[in-house]
Amino acid sequence: MSISLAGKTFVIMGVANKRSIAWGIARSLDQSGARLIFTYAGERFEKSVRDLVATLDGNHELVLPCDVTSDEDVEKCFTSIKEQVGTIHGLAHCIAFAKTEELAGDFSDTSRDGFLLAQNISAYSLTIISKYAKPLMAEGGSIVALTYIGGERVMPNYNVMGVAKASLEMSVRYLAADLGKHNIRVNAISSGPIRTLSAKGISDFNTILHEIEEKAPLHRNTTPEEVGDTAVFLFSEMSRGITGETIHVDSGYHVL
Ligand code: NAD
Repeated sequence: MSISLAGKTFVIMGVANKRSIAWGIARSLDQSGARLIFTYAGERFEKSVRDLVATLDGNHELVLPCDVTSDEDVEKCFTSIKEQVGTIHGLAHCIAFAKTEELAGDFSDTSRDGFLLAQNISAYSLTIISKYAKPLMAEGGSIVALTYIGGERVMPNYNVMGVAKASLEMSVRYLAADLGKHNIRVNAISSGPIRTLSAKGISDFNTILHEIEEKAPLHRNTTPEEVGDTAVFLFSEMSRGITGETIHVDSGYHVL
């Protein structure tokens, strides 16, 4: 089950380990024959990302640091990609962060710092990344961000991250409106809950997973492979008429 993306280059931002949704996207893109560039948040992720990348079929040698809280880091990262690769055809934004203490209890207790941190890393980062990626997408491109249903409606304990996802989803629409003239499409995938490093921070995550199995139309949880294959579709010409969209890959849970 693959679309060919041979000859195309994509940047994958947000692999932390083999459970990362970004890694699911990387594997699907690798199977499609694309060339991949990886960015990681800080030194502690470098080795695990390099080790994982070595297990892929393709030869994806470019692995770069990029802490999205630093304008300088983002600029440096894309300058380096431009110098070493030139043109890219798309980018997967799989980045989010909130303090664990903000992902439980009452939303009204959210601190100013915690609110701004979640917005900075999980939402604003898409805008600055798009700014620096745009000149590299000279042949047009596709940007894909990851969101969650907690950005559309209140989900238990998702709190400050839900507000950041609402901001991310609206950023996707504004960016789509801006970048369409450059033939750059911007979309989001709203993934069902998946047990990853980030998900560990959300209280009662097991209950959420259980509810999907019990109630979602497909009665099973979402896999990183399902998200990865949808990302390949959004990166391919098959989706050339789609921009500013949020596609739910969540076993249909959102219709309930
Ligand atoms: P993950 O922990 O594997 O990935 C999150 C990534 O964000 C990590 O690689 C981390 O290094 C990166 N990151 C955090 N701060 C950063 C910074 N300052 N600069 C650069 N990178 C930074 O978890 P995941 O669940 O795979 O998350 C990927 C995306 O999927 C996130 O946007 C998340 O909100 C979204 N998502 C996750 C789920 C889920 O249930 N796991 C569901 C829907 C959407």
